[in-house]
Amino acid sequence: MTDSIQRFLFEGTPIRGELVHLQATWRAVLERHDYPPVLRTLLGEAMAACALLAATLKFDGALVLQVQGSNPTRLMVVECTSEGTLRATAKWSEPPAAAAGVRALLREARCAITLIQPDGSQSYQGVVEVRGDSVAQMLMHYMLQSEQIETTMLLAADATGAAGMLLQRLPEARDEDADRWTRVRMLADTLQPAELLGLPAQTLLRRLFHEEDLRLFDAQPLSFRCSCSRTRVESMLKMLGPQEVQSVIAEQGRVEVTCEFCYRVWRFDPVDAAAVFAATPAASQSHTRH
Ligand SMILES: [Zn+2]
Repeated sequence: MTDSIQRFLFEGTPIRGELVHLQATWRAVLERHDYPPVLRTLLGEAMAACALLAATLKFDGALVLQVQGSNPTRLMVVECTSEGTLRATAKWSEPPAAAAGVRALLREARCAITLIQPDGSQSYQGVVEVRGDSVAQMLMHYMLQSEQIETTMLLAADATGAAGMLLQRLPEARDEDADRWTRVRMLADTLQPAELLGLPAQTLLRRLFHEEDLRLFDAQPLSFRCSCSRTRVESMLKMLGPQEVQSVIAEQGRVEVTCEFCYRVWRFDPVDAAAVFAATPAASQSHTRH
């Protein structure tokens, strides 16, 4: 299976859904950093979830899903762009040894969803306290509380793949079959992680909802891509200011900035660093000159 997201709908009903499968994209994240197994599962699930959420929206830019711990360690950041590229990272001060530890950690966390415009400005942010002890439960709660949309989400991740299914009942429309939503959710809950990870969309949907009239749309490709660049690192150094950068160079001989998503190291020797500030408009200089 190639990495993709596929929308589907239950004909003539307000229920719609999506299925996502990530393999190469997920492996690209794992190749760049070694995560403890518990954290790896959580991050893979969050990556699948981020792709599902991004596909429910019409937007240009990036959807960023962040799960933040209470201590206040940032736990996970996943980004999915409207072009179908994803990146993800996780940080943990002390990785929990077992799944119970993850649940406890999620119970105290906050979940934020941010939309970033193509120019880098932030256009929307929703934050909720996490309810539930899994990424799926957390986001189902988020969707209900923040968007008033009833959502069912199933997620799975292992060392080779991440996958997810989302089902939503659109609030504005009515269904003449009042039990359909409950029935569909119950059927979805019978799905095993191995089926979610391993079955092609068509097989999976036929197996789960064979009595329903489903329409499956074309799959949209997804892939890993990190948006870091030398230009972005340069603007970050400019924000730090020449004094701060100079003090790092005095101490370490150069400046090294590691991208927290792809772990690429951007290096600036004294000449590079001087060039960064030489290119800046003379605003800060005129400020100090009298
Ligand atoms: Zn990067």
